[in-house]
Amino acid sequence: MDLRRQHLIDPAVCIRCNSCQEACPVDAITHDANNYVVEFDTCTGCRACVSPCPTGAIDHWLLVDQPWSIADQFTWEDLPEPHPGHGGEIAPPAEVTQMLNVATTATGGRVPAPSSAAQPFTNVYSREAPVMARVAGNFRITAADAESDIRHVVLDFQHNAFPFLEGQNIGIIPPGQDAKGRPHNIRLYSIASPREGERPNHNNLALTVKRVTDGIGSNYVCDLQKGDPVLVAGPFGDSFLMPDDPNTNIIMICTGTGAAPFRAFTERRRRNHPDAPGKLMLFFGARRPAELPYFGPLSKLPKALIDVNLAFSREPDQPKTYVQDRLRQRADDVAQLLKSTLTHIYVCGLKGMEQGCEEAFADICRLSGLDWASLRATLRVEGRYHVETY
Ligand SMILES: Cc1cc2nc3c(=O)[nH]c(=O)nc-3n(C[C@H](O)[C@H](O)[C@H](O)COP(=O)(O)OP(=O)(O)OC[C@H]3O[C@@H](n4cnc5c(N)ncnc54)[C@H](O)[C@@H]3O)c2cc1C
Ligand code: SF4
Ligand code: SF4
Repeated sequence: MDLRRQHLIDPAVCIRCNSCQEACPVDAITHDANNYVVEFDTCTGCRACVSPCPTGAIDHWLLVDQPWSIADQFTWEDLPEPHPGHGGEIAPPAEVTQMLNVATTATGGRVPAPSSAAQPFTNVYSREAPVMARVAGNFRITAADAESDIRHVVLDFQHNAFPFLEGQNIGIIPPGQDAKGRPHNIRLYSIASPREGERPNHNNLALTVKRVTDGIGSNYVCDLQKGDPVLVAGPFGDSFLMPDDPNTNIIMICTGTGAAPFRAFTERRRRNHPDAPGKLMLFFGARRPAELPYFGPLSKLPKALIDVNLAFSREPDQPKTYVQDRLRQRADDVAQLLKSTLTHIYVCGLKGMEQGCEEAFADICRLSGLDWASLRATLRVEGRYHVETY
């Protein structure tokens, strides 16, 4: 029997975060409303998707004589048991992995981290082997009359090491089980603090968490009380990292809790390079000022540190304004930054916001003699254009 190795994703563990699909250099990963799946004929086995996966769901390799189609995989709730025609699970052969890793580096499909970013630690703790943190504080950061309840939650890791960088995420493990009696999957949250901690040189970090109606993880986190224990996995993410060269310009575009990593970036600059030559430019969208997390602290930041542009889409008697409208309003300044090889762009927040931003960048480029399509390709290859939406 001619057995071949098939790369599969465990649907019971996958949290549908899209990290693997973004990481795959040959577009072998796709998804529907149910599952993330791997196309057998396209996957080269390079493993570029493995380290970005926060759950380990991606790391399954089965010996098969007849590969499962993506249509099969879309219907799965669990990885299937081996059966005649399909073999058992194997570890990928080391020499194949090594060989294919070299091939992936050459194809370079994945957006790398910025060249000046520090080396991150990832997957230090997992769902199977988490670390326990304690809640040091939980504060509402949207106005009392706002529709959205967004919280600033500080976790203290006490004597346990938890090394992280700005732009990474952590996984929260909600207690209890899902409807099928399985432990809940981890939920990812962006770290909102710089690497030295929410309080400098304390072993802690902050999250920015929005309560989602009937959501398991967000309600668990938003209801945590000071002193409560929390199981944490991570840190995760090795690409959406901050350039640590003070000469770099950073354009940050976000909505809602997408502000979390940018709070970390801004605090890193404010604490370590307050007079940095590089510019910070923030475009931040919300329905109303009351719905904007960190509105108060943000408006007090010095103008020399950060150029803040707010966009409100539901202000009474005002035209609806979105982040892409603000980008267009600042076209001259944005174009100036786009012309510099020291400029990095980050987009974080709701799924779908990328398209509006791309269209705005394309318009801005057209007006200033730049070609967005080729500039975007260069930015991605150089690790200067990053998108994280959820
Ligand atoms: C890289 C990354 C970073 C993130 N960073 C942040 C962050 O900084 N802050 C933040 O707040 N969030 C962040 N998220 C989102 C976060 O991980 C969670 O997805 C979010 O908090 C919702 O999780 P939940 O457990 O509360 O909701 P879930 O329990 O997962 O439910 C989500 C929604 O689906 C509905 N639902 C659940 N089960 C069913 C069902 N059987 N039938 C129909 N509907 C159902 C729920 O009502 C709810 O509206 C991030 C996500 C990613 C991937
Ligand atoms: S192993 Fe490589 S080719 Fe296969 S899905 Fe992962 S990143 Fe894509
Ligand atoms: S990276 Fe892992 S958890 Fe996220 S969608 Fe892919 S397989 Fe699922």
